[in-house]
Amino acid sequence: EAGLKQPSMGDVDMAAIKEVKPVKELRRVGAHSHIRGLGLDEKGRAKFIADGMVGQTEAREAAGIVVQMIREGKMAGRGVLIVGPSGTGKTAIAVGIAKELGEDTPFVAMSGSEIYSSELKKTEVLMQVLRKSIGVRFRERRTVYEGAVAQLRIAYVKHPFNPYVKVPREAEIVLETTDDSLKLRVGEEIAVQLLQLRVRRGDVIWIDAETGEVHKVGRLCSEKRYDISAYKCVEKPSGPVKKDKEIVHMLTLHDLDVAYAAQRVAVASFLGMPLTREIPSDVRQRVDEEVKKLINEGRAELVPGVLFIDDAHMLDIEAFSFLTRAMESELAPILVLATNRGMTKIRGTDIEAPHGIPLDLLDRLLIIRTRPYTAEEIREILKIRADEEEIPLSSDALEELTKLGVERSLRYAVQLMEPARIIAEREGRTKVTVEDVRKAASYFVDLRESVQYIQQYEEKLLK
Ligand code: ATP
Repeated sequence: EAGLKQPSMGDVDMAAIKEVKPVKELRRVGAHSHIRGLGLDEKGRAKFIADGMVGQTEAREAAGIVVQMIREGKMAGRGVLIVGPSGTGKTAIAVGIAKELGEDTPFVAMSGSEIYSSELKKTEVLMQVLRKSIGVRFRERRTVYEGAVAQLRIAYVKHPFNPYVKVPREAEIVLETTDDSLKLRVGEEIAVQLLQLRVRRGDVIWIDAETGEVHKVGRLCSEKRYDISAYKCVEKPSGPVKKDKEIVHMLTLHDLDVAYAAQRVAVASFLGMPLTREIPSDVRQRVDEEVKKLINEGRAELVPGVLFIDDAHMLDIEAFSFLTRAMESELAPILVLATNRGMTKIRGTDIEAPHGIPLDLLDRLLIIRTRPYTAEEIREILKIRADEEEIPLSSDALEELTKLGVERSLRYAVQLMEPARIIAEREGRTKVTVEDVRKAASYFVDLRESVQYIQQYEEKLLK
């Protein structure tokens, strides 16, 4: 297609960086989107409901102390282990810790079993998640235009610029805001104007707040390595006011690794070399050096985040020793492990240990307990989640879900809400009723039921 422009892999470009974020990660964090902190008062006591957190007071208060220790630099070389039955909010508490440390603190959640990837070495998987958990906050002064709805930089254009080609409803012009680097798909009205303006990749435009008119204000002139979306204005815009503003954005060390490695990938694929998802160690070294330089110049700062590893008993001895070493390095995130196992074998050995974790690592961990929820707590959590997912529940539907939460699991009850909403919607109702919940529960079974179901057939087969 003539005129088709895709982002080149060589560019250290926000668009390219955003694209590598796996969806899985977002979904996992999305389940905890209602959690804004640990919900503690000035004395560190947990309020029954606060910051999206419900009950589990002792564990939340313990987590609050950990937060203070992190702030005071007393957690260096140490970590946290959260033990408790599954579905007792271990992940939720880890999210709460990250939120208490700051709104933009990186939070990465994974399961111990994820290190057994077929493509990557175990230590590479761990290295990547460690670097995803360390943020770099960049500060730069930039020219912004106030009075504009959004300042947008054309990230790439998937549509050939032929004014005679009809623009599809959802335009295929991908824009990126210079403020928060969100990628937007523009609507038809704006897309038509963009076509008429013949915008190209790198153009900076603004959209008038009142009239919806689109103006081209300049070209991206400098694209320095870290000034990822820095631009200079070559033409004076007529509408909005030009201002100098400090722009702050956050990337993780892993984002930077990927961006640097992408340049290599472009060359390698051109030469027909095999591609791996492994990041060469010299790339990481270079990123570290560049970041250090920016920190010394006062243009960036490091933001250690939280690395949460659920089902930590699934890690093996090699992974444990890698993590133990990583905790000692000066550049380490806060490690939060979680498990629901008691005494069990350390994977990769014949040695039994508490929670399947080697003693030398256990010695460095502060252990927090979570306990099963009461019906009241479950009801309140379900209410918050229904609110967050914008699912209106009738009071008896909420009671039914609470019952399922108590008898089966909280997670099961939470998972049934969206199917129940769809069932209600198909019946032409906006509010979910108890029948909708029951119907959803008959379609989707919980773990106990699914296992029983299969066992029934296994027994038949054995006979
Ligand atoms: P675990 O990690 O112990 O298995 P979890 O944190 O993943 O548990 P789920 O059982 O998956 O918890 O929880 C279902 C939903 O309830 C999630 O959206 C979670 O954020 C929320 N949740 C769990 N505990 C609390 C709590 N104490 N307060 C508020 N929300 C909670």
